[in-house]
Amino acid sequence: MKFRHKYIIVGAGSAGCVLANKLSANPLNSVLLIEAGPKDNFPAIKMPLAASSLFKNKKYGWGYETEPEPNLNHRLINWPRGKTLGGSSSINGMVYIRGQAEDYESWEQAGNVGWGYKDLINHFTSLENNQNHQDELHGSKGELWVETYQSSLEASNVFMEACAQAGFQENLDFNGQKQEGYGTYQVNIKKGQRFSAADAFLKPILGRPNLELLMGTRVTKIITSNNKAMGVLIKNKTGSHAVTCEAEIILCGGAINTPHVLMLSGIGPKQHLEDLNIHCHHNIPGVGQNLQDHLTVNIGHTMDGLKTFSELMRPIQMLKNLYHYFVRGKGLLTYPASDIGVFFKTSHSENTPNAQIHFAPGAGKYNKNGAMKPMSGITASVCNLRPKSVGFLKLQSSNPEDPPKIHANYLSHPADIQPIIDGIKRIRKIFQSSAMDTYNPKEIEPSAKYQSDSEVEELIRQESLSVYHPVGTCKMGETEECVVDSRLRVRGISGLRVADASIFPSIISGNTNATCNVIGSKCAEYILADT
Ligand SMILES: Cc1cc2nc3c(=O)[nH]c(=O)nc-3n(C[C@H](O)[C@H](O)[C@H](O)COP(=O)(O)OP(=O)(O)OC[C@H]3O[C@@H](n4cnc5c(N)ncnc54)[C@H](O)[C@@H]3O)c2cc1C
Repeated sequence: MKFRHKYIIVGAGSAGCVLANKLSANPLNSVLLIEAGPKDNFPAIKMPLAASSLFKNKKYGWGYETEPEPNLNHRLINWPRGKTLGGSSSINGMVYIRGQAEDYESWEQAGNVGWGYKDLINHFTSLENNQNHQDELHGSKGELWVETYQSSLEASNVFMEACAQAGFQENLDFNGQKQEGYGTYQVNIKKGQRFSAADAFLKPILGRPNLELLMGTRVTKIITSNNKAMGVLIKNKTGSHAVTCEAEIILCGGAINTPHVLMLSGIGPKQHLEDLNIHCHHNIPGVGQNLQDHLTVNIGHTMDGLKTFSELMRPIQMLKNLYHYFVRGKGLLTYPASDIGVFFKTSHSENTPNAQIHFAPGAGKYNKNGAMKPMSGITASVCNLRPKSVGFLKLQSSNPEDPPKIHANYLSHPADIQPIIDGIKRIRKIFQSSAMDTYNPKEIEPSAKYQSDSEVEELIRQESLSVYHPVGTCKMGETEECVVDSRLRVRGISGLRVADASIFPSIISGNTNATCNVIGSKCAEYILADT
């Protein structure tokens, strides 16, 4: 039998774009890359400051939200995921963080040979084109543009000065020798525009004759026979079709959609599948389990006399912003989700930072559509980097159009609340420093109302948000509950791998995108060695 393609990759996101690039580098490998979403040519995707306007956009995103969260006053938490070329890297905050070496050491210690930081560092550096750091921990020849963001706003400098006065050390490179301290984030922004995984790894190679890209096409099922993956069922505007391939199918649909497709295909927890009348081809109880995410709380302050996003977005100013953005690739509209960060330990018992602050020179409240309504002020938000709470996903039905039910289970582990309470105290300390005094900072409601520890706990339950880092739902490892082995092969099904945020054995201490790029790169290394 002659196949058109050797490999099928499902999802052109942060991992999928890297994988497609690496596999198709050899002209003998024909690759079919299938993406559910459309092309990424919508202006708000390119304009960094417009990112939050995409959170509930149903054309370029999946628009997920959690089920009512029992420990967050039964609130439904917004979970945007990108549905376009670049996946979530086309709607994300663009902050480039690798996490801590210790995160990957713990992956390796859990039995994942080849996943220690010493094994991954070459992948991080070879993918990277870092504009500011040239040393053995950084690369300048890779496809992914990384630059240290240069804020043009005084508010960012004031916050940095206040961090120093509050006792934090300056860190010029969060992805260097150590993560701890305050400093400016590195970002995936090139000449003032978002630089997604598609911009870096996919668009430059779309001319390869051995790479076919299908957009607007959703994989609804993996076709298996005798525990071998043979192909996929796809759905697009021309209808439903089966597509087969010669060697392997690699799922890169992300932490929600990959377990969703697996379960729809009868690969997952047997009882759950049978309850929905889905024939269970292969019982893997871990599919959809081990869900982890970072939870954050915004603490906003008004600042007298300091220009923040709100003042700089007034009509006349906006004309200037548009000019600077379109003509010079600079200015307010090039702002990432956060330009200044702080990594720190909330207790002496921690060996490495367990909390992260994202600072932005703006403030606002999310409206019902998930977009930020700006108000005067600046915001620092803090998250617990290593939560112990674990959630899960379940199918709602056997219909692929029905989104899965997401139970993030935030704060279900009692140890998860104190680091956030302590982190909020540290933010308040930063705002009490003399660098802030000049601007008479006043904490904005709702957080201002909550001061004692028990009140702050209530604030967290009432106001916390996702940092949008869901991972772990197809856990990598060697034990029974794991879905893929350390070469990313789905347990018990040949010809099928997973490469995306779902394989994280545990969440890393930082933003998750760069790690997903590396997962795509590692997967290519394994496939090229194994097939
Ligand atoms: C709003 C937001 C802000 C974030 N901010 C940051 C940040 O600043 N820094 C950072 O490091 N991380 C950030 N993240 C997280 C980071 O972007 C993600 O961890 C990462 O992009 C996940 O990569 P992935 O490859 O697992 O999946 P994705 O990049 O989500 O890619 C999955 C792709 O598969 C496609 N797909 C899914 N199912 C199917 C199917 N059945 N058929 C065909 N195609 C399918 C999707 O449409 C999508 O394009 C943010 C995420 C979001 C959503």
